[in-house]
Amino acid sequence: MLTPVLAPPSVAVIGAGPAGLMAAETLALAGVPVDVYDAMPSAGRKFLLAGKGGLNLTHDEPAPAFVGRYRERAAVLAPLLADFGSETLRVPPRAGLRSSRPPGGAREDLGRPGVFLRDWARGLGVETFVGSSGRVFPVDMKAAPLLRAWIHRQRQQGVRFHMRWRWTGWGDDGALRFETPAGAQAVRPGAMVLALGGASWARLGSDGAWVPWLRASGVDVRALEPANCGFDIGWSAHFSARHAGAPLKTVAIEWDDAGDGADPPVRRRQKGEFVVTATGVEGSLVYAASAALRQTLARDGQATFHLDLLPGRDAAFVAAEVARPRGTRSLATHLKSRLGIDGVKMGLLHECVPRETLADPAALARAIKALPLTLRRCRPLDEAISTAGGVRFEALTPGPQTPLMLHARPGVFCAGEMLDWEAPTGGYLLTACFATGRAAGAGAAAWWRAQAGIQTRPEA
Ligand SMILES: Cc1cc2nc3c(=O)[nH]c(=O)nc-3n(C[C@H](O)[C@H](O)[C@H](O)COP(=O)(O)OP(=O)(O)OC[C@H]3O[C@@H](n4cnc5c(N)ncnc54)[C@H](O)[C@@H]3O)c2cc1C
Repeated sequence: MLTPVLAPPSVAVIGAGPAGLMAAETLALAGVPVDVYDAMPSAGRKFLLAGKGGLNLTHDEPAPAFVGRYRERAAVLAPLLADFGSETLRVPPRAGLRSSRPPGGAREDLGRPGVFLRDWARGLGVETFVGSSGRVFPVDMKAAPLLRAWIHRQRQQGVRFHMRWRWTGWGDDGALRFETPAGAQAVRPGAMVLALGGASWARLGSDGAWVPWLRASGVDVRALEPANCGFDIGWSAHFSARHAGAPLKTVAIEWDDAGDGADPPVRRRQKGEFVVTATGVEGSLVYAASAALRQTLARDGQATFHLDLLPGRDAAFVAAEVARPRGTRSLATHLKSRLGIDGVKMGLLHECVPRETLADPAALARAIKALPLTLRRCRPLDEAISTAGGVRFEALTPGPQTPLMLHARPGVFCAGEMLDWEAPTGGYLLTACFATGRAAGAGAAAWWRAQAGIQTRPEA
């Protein structure tokens, strides 16, 4: 029989966002000692900010549609999401955890991350609901109660938190270096999980400073770029002064998506709303198209989407209404009375449509149904909701024993937004952070156990 001579040191989780916290919980549940380090004074600052928008935790939809949201990374994330979503089916629920699955619904729910996340939140005393769009929110739409309960539970599980510890890379001796309130510290963990986030909203902690340190270690990191971001168009001073901040409600946009090498690109259409900014556009509908638009911008130097100002009216109806005689009435009065177009919608027509087109009813009707808006650049990464790019999956072991471990640094696992995937808003960001956090935590636990096994000797 083998007995441990010396347990390896604890596992270091660096980054106390949703990915790092999920990794820490997974390690603690596996009986592995965990120390969590974060540069900020408190954990989960971006998670708390997400709570200001209602905390869209996940999405309730069948696994194939869910996984497809991760575009080019759907294939590599699919097994991690499936494993995460099937967690409640593989392990007995912990005390106090009631499943949100209807009786007999287990088979269909297999691999649905949304179902697992709802059960997990309920285990923390947070009930959730599914909105009409399929988005899942806590009933109170807040992040703070969930985060508080989660950290409390982790402390009870023995997780130690070290706040205001900023990791600054590896020393020449291989130890982790930290700047702390007590000065420089070095730590030699038994394994580590990096969950450092992307590089948007740097004031909340994730600043992308890790990119050169990982690259210097031989890790392939794709350049960080804005995802779910706004775009600059370059409005006239007149339009910007009058309409910046105005919402465009219930419109539709169409754009070409060449993601995953689609040739010809797929034409996509989505209904929703967005906001006119001082320099361009931002908001949920624009974010939905932002990955494809950013890729087109990088390739062509500009990207165009078409805006349907009246998605509830078909082209023939709009053409007939615009063509009605307007007598001495102005164009603005005519369009308002016939089609309800006014305010920022009318402003956009004046801004974007040549004078001759405004005077041509058939051409004007076409512009109302498909107004081209040409984007010049993405808004800066710091303003974006999330980050594209990051540690490439090719730089990581695929598992199943030690998933998400850096080839270049055995024993170092990565999770969350610092990995090279992106997804639209709708709960997909947090779900992938949780799922990769759990996978990296499980991988680090397996690695730690293997180290403990190495340091064994036959019992006397
Ligand atoms: C305004 C806004 C609203 C959002 N709303 C939603 C939503 O409703 N639903 C959704 O799914 N997603 C939402 N997101 C995205 C979601 O919050 C992120 O995808 C998620 O927080 C990323 O988790 P993470 O753990 O990978 O990184 P982060 O949450 O960024 O955490 C990384 C942690 O690492 C720490 N860290 C970084 N570098 C160091 C270092 N060198 N040393 C020590 N610590 C370090 C940081 O301080 C931070 O605590 C929103 C984002 C924003 C900006």
